[in-house]
Amino acid sequence: MININRKKTKEIKIGNIYLGGNNPIYIQSMCNTDTKDIKSTVNQILALEEAGCEIIRVAVLDMQSAFAIKDIKKQINIPIVADIHFDYRLALECIASGVDKIRINPGNIGDESRIKKIVDKAKERNIAIRIGVNSGSLEKNIIQMYNGVTSKGLVESALNNINILEKYNFENIIVSIKASSVPLSIESYSMLSEKIDYPIHLGITEAGTIWRGTIKSSVGIGTILSKGIGDTIRVSLTGDPIEEIYCAKEILKSLCLRKFGIEFISCPTCGRTKIDLISIAREIEDKCKHINKNITVAIMGCAVNGPGEAKEADIGIAGGIGEGVIFKKGKVLRKVKEYELVSELMKEIENL
Ligand code: SF4
Repeated sequence: MININRKKTKEIKIGNIYLGGNNPIYIQSMCNTDTKDIKSTVNQILALEEAGCEIIRVAVLDMQSAFAIKDIKKQINIPIVADIHFDYRLALECIASGVDKIRINPGNIGDESRIKKIVDKAKERNIAIRIGVNSGSLEKNIIQMYNGVTSKGLVESALNNINILEKYNFENIIVSIKASSVPLSIESYSMLSEKIDYPIHLGITEAGTIWRGTIKSSVGIGTILSKGIGDTIRVSLTGDPIEEIYCAKEILKSLCLRKFGIEFISCPTCGRTKIDLISIAREIEDKCKHINKNITVAIMGCAVNGPGEAKEADIGIAGGIGEGVIFKKGKVLRKVKEYELVSELMKEIENL
């Protein structure tokens, strides 16, 4: 197997985990609840944890949300990040509430003295700061200098903000430079990675609805990860954040960067397929969503090519006419009727 050679970045502590260095590429998401609504926010975070979310971010728009972090944190198990725009006082309050990381967009926090106040508090509590540069809110002078939003401008903004934090001897930094354009993101992250050793948070912002956003994120985040860049990823989808976790897991699995439960192989179907393979594949994938075994399952349309093509699979099915065979490591185990294929395969998976 070919392994991606990851760039080794500085290790940064966020709550009960370490990001960067040789640590796994962590999956994160963001709540779409009102942070002040503690019950709904906690319920969403627990559901995301169950799906595999490893870092959670919440929007902090007002003081009540900043105070809410204290109660939310007591009821969840993963690090919590406060997303702050415009008002540095919200960042200070979140730090006092015990948040594990602050995400600020220095371009809209205001003058340096405000950033310094956040840095001083973050230092006191050993809290990391993510500099989140965004193509939609890049500083005006940089846009003018580069005649628009460009990779050079995005990287310059990130470096300027890193310099401000470093000037106050703060190095607990994570950096992201998000754009909704995939080529711009690839160029910007590649350029950024050559210039810094801080952990990089990867994402394609405003990627779109589940179908389109999944493709766009997979192409964008996947390409950047394949260059060895990235220590944590957030897929941004217009939909239930749980879908972001499923998408992020598949991206990392596809590049062999992480293992999350079952790896599926399924054939595209062709004129030889004589069973309803598409429904069977969907049903099996769905039933296996919460099975945490590092095995490969193959769902193949015919017994002529199926087991042979999927010989790397630990277990699988190959369709016949109104029936199919269960196979293990490319060898046929037994024949079963089409209507029993799903249940019989599930028994075999559970027994593995
Ligand atoms: Fe066709 Fe069989 Fe290949 Fe599926 S495994 S695409 S049914 S030849």
